[in-house]
Amino acid sequence: RRDFVANVSHELRTPVAIILAQSETLLDGALDDEEMAQKFLSSMHRQAERVTSLINDLLDLARIEAGQRELEREDVSIAAAARRAADGLASKAKKRDLRLEIDVSSEQTAFVNASALEQVLVNLLENAIKYTNEGTAIVLKAQPDGKKRLRLEVWDEGPGIPTELQNRVFERFYRVDKGRSRDLGGTGLGLAIVKHLVGQMGGRVGVDAREPNGAIFWFTV
Ligand code: ADP
Repeated sequence: RRDFVANVSHELRTPVAIILAQSETLLDGALDDEEMAQKFLSSMHRQAERVTSLINDLLDLARIEAGQRELEREDVSIAAAARRAADGLASKAKKRDLRLEIDVSSEQTAFVNASALEQVLVNLLENAIKYTNEGTAIVLKAQPDGKKRLRLEVWDEGPGIPTELQNRVFERFYRVDKGRSRDLGGTGLGLAIVKHLVGQMGGRVGVDAREPNGAIFWFTV
């Protein structure tokens, strides 16, 4: 808990310090320089967005970890959940010239909480969009895992995760490339949320290397 509080404070301190410094500069006269004002305001806006994402992720995580209520489950169509997740991310994918392919048959269903499944898919697809190389394809696949489970996989063509870090990326605030994650608006909490939600539905998560490059993030339902 002590580590966690230290991490959260550290994550909040940087954007708040930037907002403070830039607003002071503006108040001290930079407001009259239109170009400078524009630059500082858009930077402050970006930093405020960062704080907002962090707070939202922290609240999600706290709610999930408190386990206040059991996730209600029902039979959910994987293809439909994937479609909803992908539709919400279409403009982000387009900006990086990425194709989102859903390779799931319409009969595949899972006994899950529909919004938790969607959040897991959004977090994994959003990461793939952030970290993969422009102009490539991101593919979601579903295949049987043993008799009763399905394994959902997100294939990307990004830098992948070094073998020795494959467990660590699911820890809160763990990032492979800190600078890149922050530049892309990452909070370092997305995969921790994925792990919790999947665990609450009785599944497992992991990541494998893709050859010649890329990651395959997977979970079972
Ligand atoms: P973040 O908000 O930083 O993306 P996550 O918990 O979602 O936080 O991911 C943790 C770290 O794992 C990221 O900072 C990144 O270094 C790495 N990562 C996650 N997904 C991918 C991916 N698809 N390809 C490469 N690296 C990834």
